[in-house]
Amino acid sequence: MSLNPTKKIIVWFRQDLRITDNPALSLAADNGSIIPVFILDDDAPAEAVLGGASKWWLHHSLLSLSKSLSNKLIIRRGNPLSILSDIAEEFSADTVVWNRLYEPWQRSRDENIKTELKKNNINAKSLNGSLLWEPMSVLKKDETPYKVFTPYYRKGCLTRQAPRFPLTKPAQMDIAEGVEFSNDALLSLELIPKIEWYKEIEAQWEPGEEGAANRLQRFINDAATSYQDARNLPAVKGTSLLSPHLHFGEVSPNQAWYAIQGAFENAFDNKDLDVYLSELGWREFSYYLLFHWPEIQHKNFNAKFDHFSWRSSVDDLKAWQFGNTGVPIIDAGMRELYQTGYMHNRIRMVVGSFLVKNLLIDWREGERWFWDTLLDADMASNSSGWQWVAGSGADAAPYFRVFNPILQGEKFDKEGEYVKQYCPELKKLPKKFIHKPWEAPAEILKACGIELGKDYPKPIVDLKESRKRALDAFAQLKAIS
Ligand code: FAD
Repeated sequence: MSLNPTKKIIVWFRQDLRITDNPALSLAADNGSIIPVFILDDDAPAEAVLGGASKWWLHHSLLSLSKSLSNKLIIRRGNPLSILSDIAEEFSADTVVWNRLYEPWQRSRDENIKTELKKNNINAKSLNGSLLWEPMSVLKKDETPYKVFTPYYRKGCLTRQAPRFPLTKPAQMDIAEGVEFSNDALLSLELIPKIEWYKEIEAQWEPGEEGAANRLQRFINDAATSYQDARNLPAVKGTSLLSPHLHFGEVSPNQAWYAIQGAFENAFDNKDLDVYLSELGWREFSYYLLFHWPEIQHKNFNAKFDHFSWRSSVDDLKAWQFGNTGVPIIDAGMRELYQTGYMHNRIRMVVGSFLVKNLLIDWREGERWFWDTLLDADMASNSSGWQWVAGSGADAAPYFRVFNPILQGEKFDKEGEYVKQYCPELKKLPKKFIHKPWEAPAEILKACGIELGKDYPKPIVDLKESRKRALDAFAQLKAIS
């Protein structure tokens, strides 16, 4: 394509809600006038319909994108093919461009849209705007996909051509006449809930490209060079907090990847930075797994786990969801999630292990709850995270690894600050008992104003017994060939 001011190009924004380093937008800006469009797909399958927290984020991210586009963004909801076809006709556009998505239903939908548009003489072009290495390009020597992270990342990815360097914001964006932003159209997506549960979330996050850039810069200034250890401490802001921004594409992984390498010399030789870059690699690996094994969102990667008989207990599930298990580090994590839309990575692993192993509840229940409550809910990272915890995934934690929530708390929340933040009813407890209040002598509990079972729950399971029950149950899987 070459610049032709009379040429009209639809840019279909999806999970790339930014104008810098946006390959589809740059291509359109270089070749004609742009018709920026966002469509809420009403035909998305149930498992992909956005959860409450993600909806809130998307609303604000679209407002921010629209501002960056001088308040020129068409917002619609419905069937993307018919909407794109209508807009093409309305504006006499003959090309649609977008950045690729990787959830299985999105891949087949987009392929179909491409075919149908072409039948109507509308060009459709897709580009990579969300991954450092696209899954189809990384295979083992025998042409099969990797199943283990380290060889995938170190051999499969790092030895290939370096990821694309980020593009600058288009120097000129000629937005087609007649394109306007309508707040009513945004409101018709019904992304903001009627009950205002998001006030605390609103105070902590800044959805949009500018918010993402600020987070990345703050991480580089304050936390990147202490990442390796600090990333395990839930009471410390030791991670980048970029995950919702990355999910909605307000920043690309390429921008994060090269910002780190631009800010520090020899990033790969620095343990903290190397670990951070490899976490971006884990994000890639999650997308890779979802691409090559599209059923991992709901099917065990390791089919042996299909024989596992999970417990079903609505009461235990509810206690876990709302942070009332009586185990402080678990309750702090689940309350953090519910109140802020985020949970620290270490705590995600600990609460996941508690659900799947101590309570023996199916990992899919946890995956669903996270999907609804996480601001960064992401089909690829969430399903691979849960399968990792359960032991059923590719390169997963072994089934006999049951996180001990007391030891995890004592190691990573030594002073109990994190627990006290989210379980304020325990804030007077001495450090010695903060992760196991049930072991505190009666007089100490009384002096701290805590009656277990009234002010704070008694544990819903015995940690030792439930660990043994899990090990026995999971050991039976070993026998299955
Ligand atoms: P940082 O430590 O700053 O890492 C930088 C980026 O690397 C993250 O923003 C994220 O994009 C990526 N990343 C880091 N760790 C992982 C990982 N283990 N797997 C994949 N990508 C990773 N992450 C999501 O983005 N969405 C989810 O829905 C999600 N669900 C999870 C469920 C479980 C059970 C577990 C154990 C992990 C899950 N994760 C998920 C991964 C991880 O917890 C978050 O990405 C991380 O906590 C986000 O915080 P951060 O941006 O400060 O991360």
